[in-house]
Amino acid sequence: MRPRSVADYQETLVMVDQTVDRLTALVEELLLLARAENNQVPLQLEQINLSELLAEVISSLELAAQRKQIKVISQLPPEVELMADYGKLSRLFINLLENALKYSSARSQVTIQATLEHGQAKVEVSDNGQGIAPEHLVHLFERFYRVDKARSRQTTPDESSSGSGLGLSIAEWIVTVHGGRITVQSEVGHGTTFTVWLPQARSNLSLG
Ligand code: ATP
Ligand code: MG
Repeated sequence: MRPRSVADYQETLVMVDQTVDRLTALVEELLLLARAENNQVPLQLEQINLSELLAEVISSLELAAQRKQIKVISQLPPEVELMADYGKLSRLFINLLENALKYSSARSQVTIQATLEHGQAKVEVSDNGQGIAPEHLVHLFERFYRVDKARSRQTTPDESSSGSGLGLSIAEWIVTVHGGRITVQSEVGHGTTFTVWLPQARSNLSLG
């Protein structure tokens, strides 16, 4: 309605840019879940080195970790190989690590550990953040479920308040189509650990 300063326009454009990014991510997630429901998402299986994949996931979130001065500690033995869909496993661990960073306080620690146990790759993502109360844990993998509902519609820069509650349902779907499973352990005020098991061999894969 009236001319503004360059700084004002820049600020507005940055905000618009961030909003577009958020909406694009949301639409992609919704599309993925909708297609998954109709079994329209084929797995692109290949031999994957899980430690390399996790190292890439960690480096893709390095900036987010730095912004909160969170130390990401990883224990990734080099020999963890499996047949899996690279893009989908990346998405799975990005969602878990993103949460660990988002729901932890500044200057805390997040740990990612991979091991091999009885023909299964096991990955633990732990934080010492705010934790999740038992009554919420049972609903955590449901679509659109967020613990702090009152704040979920806010669009403030406080990142723990932003999100659509789809990350974990996507994570669970990815684990399931790989024939694996995901569990969560948490204590309010102490932190949360997500554990993912993935079979190494392709024969265990199920569609669904
Ligand atoms: P997005 O769709 O952007 O991932 P989201 O992070 O809110 O949004 P989910 O990743 O599905 O959605 O997580 C669901 C809810 O579980 C979160 O809103 C949060 O309340 C809780 N949660 C998830 N991970 C953690 C964690 N590591 N520590 C504490 N709470 C968590
Ligand atoms: Mg999330």
